[in-house]
Amino acid sequence: MIDIIVIGAGIIGSTVFYELTKQVKNVHLFEKNKEAGLEVSGHNSAIVHSGIDPHSNTLKAKYNLMGQAMYEDYAKELETPFKRVGAFVVAKDIEECKHLDLLEERAKQRQVHVVRYSNQEALSLEPNLNPDIISVLDMPTTAIIDPTHLSSQAVKKGVMNGGEAHFEEMIISIEPKLQYFEVETNKGTYQAKIIVNCAGLYADKIEALVGDATFTLKYRKGEYIVLSPQNPPVSSRIIYPVPSLLGKGVLYVPTISGRALVGPNAVDVDDFNPHPILDVSVEDMKSKMNQLLSNVPYELEIDRFVGFRPRVDSDDFVIHEHPDVPYFFTLAGIESPGIASAPAIAKDITNTMILPGLTSRLQGL
Ligand SMILES: Cc1cc2nc3c(=O)[nH]c(=O)nc-3n(C[C@H](O)[C@H](O)[C@H](O)COP(=O)(O)OP(=O)(O)OC[C@H]3O[C@@H](n4cnc5c(N)ncnc54)[C@H](O)[C@@H]3O)c2cc1C
Repeated sequence: MIDIIVIGAGIIGSTVFYELTKQVKNVHLFEKNKEAGLEVSGHNSAIVHSGIDPHSNTLKAKYNLMGQAMYEDYAKELETPFKRVGAFVVAKDIEECKHLDLLEERAKQRQVHVVRYSNQEALSLEPNLNPDIISVLDMPTTAIIDPTHLSSQAVKKGVMNGGEAHFEEMIISIEPKLQYFEVETNKGTYQAKIIVNCAGLYADKIEALVGDATFTLKYRKGEYIVLSPQNPPVSSRIIYPVPSLLGKGVLYVPTISGRALVGPNAVDVDDFNPHPILDVSVEDMKSKMNQLLSNVPYELEIDRFVGFRPRVDSDDFVIHEHPDVPYFFTLAGIESPGIASAPAIAKDITNTMILPGLTSRLQGL
């Protein structure tokens, strides 16, 4: 009998698997794709945010701040790149400056290091900023990673610790028995004492296999254009607009590979089929970016891609044990800042929920 089955090798499942294998030998990870980190974790901005954006008293704020503090060491431990490039939030008018004041205040409360710059100070640091901008909030702790590489490194190291990873093996059904779960995949049947559901865009469907669904996922699409490396880059920092109700807005993001991203937009959709990215969306993103940053080399466009944010109505992460099915844990609705939060979620949930669950299950046997 397997002690713990983790479903999904995105950044969440992979890091949970890795953390569990440090303390339990008999942990198995199941992923329907060939490799780790190919779904939501492979289609995003890859930013370790500073932690000032999420609303107070949310899991998003808690884990973003914890994750940001531990990321550099965690990336070293996993032998995956981490680069603290820093970020500017750019205000274009007086209204947006008021929003920067609020963000600055929140940063102070959360003890996140930020610096406020005038137009001239900001332009001396990033000369390609649009000269019409008014003010900037500098967030020097903001960093970038490669989430697909981090996920596969976490799986690799989890396997080195004694865990087992099953790729191209999809969970099809889960039946709760008195003392264990019976799990059927496209390749076989397994028994496990604990299940940890980290199935990203499918996490509600997986939870519904064992009992009444406690949440339903909604999807918000985000499209990007990818620019080939430019030397020197138009901006060495991430450039954010002032955030809106729909999220962080269209960004300029230098990536670990040297390429740059412009995006994402945010469109609520009913499914997560990757329809072609229309030129009209791209033109809209370019015009938003041009208000913040001039001279973006759009002629270097080499690719476009789309990511889907799995969301819930509460607008926060769902991290719980199923209320009617003990020992079945779900980590879902992990939209941004899921990348920034992953190491903190994995460590915290392992130690406060899953391992105590395993101990309790073993005592009941
Ligand atoms: C446009 C966009 C921009 C973003 N930008 C950022 C950012 O800059 N910073 C940040 O912190 N966060 C960002 N995020 C959020 C971040 O990408 C997610 O929070 C994170 O990747 C979620 O990881 P996950 O492991 O939960 O999901 P996933 O990566 O989707 O992993 C779930 C895995 O489960 C597997 N699976 C599903 N069903 C089954 C099954 N039945 N059997 C076996 N395997 C199964 C899937 O194949 C998949 O690999 C962004 C998201 C989007 C969409």
